Amino acid sequence: MTSFLSELNNRILLFDGAMGTEIQKFSPKESDYLNNKDGFNDSLNFTRPEWIRKIHLNYIEAGSECIETNTFGSNKLKLEEFGEGDKTLEFNIQATNLVKEAASESKKKIFIIGSMGPTGFLPSSNDPDLGNIALDKIEEAYYWQAQGLIEGGCHVLLIETGQDVLEMKLAVEGSFRAMKKLDKSIPIISNVTLDQYGKMLLGTNVQSAYTTLSNLGIDIFGLNCSTGPVEMTPSIHWLCEQKEIPILVMPNAGMPINENGMAKYLMSANEISAKLYEFVNKYEMVKIIGGCCGTSPEHILQLRHMLDHRNQTKGNE
Ligand SMILES: [Zn+2]
Repeated sequence: MTSFLSELNNRILLFDGAMGTEIQKFSPKESDYLNNKDGFNDSLNFTRPEWIRKIHLNYIEAGSECIETNTFGSNKLKLEEFGEGDKTLEFNIQATNLVKEAASESKKKIFIIGSMGPTGFLPSSNDPDLGNIALDKIEEAYYWQAQGLIEGGCHVLLIETGQDVLEMKLAVEGSFRAMKKLDKSIPIISNVTLDQYGKMLLGTNVQSAYTTLSNLGIDIFGLNCSTGPVEMTPSIHWLCEQKEIPILVMPNAGMPINENGMAKYLMSANEISAKLYEFVNKYEMVKIIGGCCGTSPEHILQLRHMLDHRNQTKGNE
């Protein structure tokens, strides 16, 4: 299989869309989750593997070439909240296998992307609870997760929805330590989450986050979640001006609107696609696109059409 990074030299790669909102479409009950722990989405890899495989397959059929494992909350600290911390390797290996199975069912070549979300702690903050954690515990949480993802056969590690740049740094360090232990090297993507003013949760701006993380030797820097594509524009502009490493863009389907306590995402597949078309044409450093909260296979299908159309018209120039 061609390597992920060399593929980026040739074309723009398409990731998948949201997992959480797709799981909700199965109307999960408490009894669907491991030990009846409502909302323990990553446990569905064991209890409802057919759902997760189907979600992966739907995205592959819509045209995603890169599929994320259902492991957003499968770092050791997050799993400990559910009493499953000592099964970190198993959770990540099982999730990787489900992507493999969906890929083999589709008979398409798929890059398996190991998703690593936040631990729930905010090590940079002085919050008495969330900031009260030893830094090596955080590094270790990702060290175990990365090992499971690499052993399972992921092609890329994706540290995503980063809200605290110190936590992201520890995640990168834990990932490198896992690679060293397993004597295997795979690319790392770091995705930070910015608010509509271009700042992370604790006020770090995109420039500082990029400088810190790119100096650690990550391969790709990206933005995901929190806002829609429009609000990301100034940050993407700055990131692409650096011309150093490829940039990934995975917005939500617009800024979430609160409706009776539920987040709603109103941007249509056409609207997202039009905006991302603008980005890939304007910024040559944008090499990967995909969707975050509120995006579905319908959005991915539209992005697929947009990229295919773009390739055709480029080929005819
Ligand atoms: Zn999101």
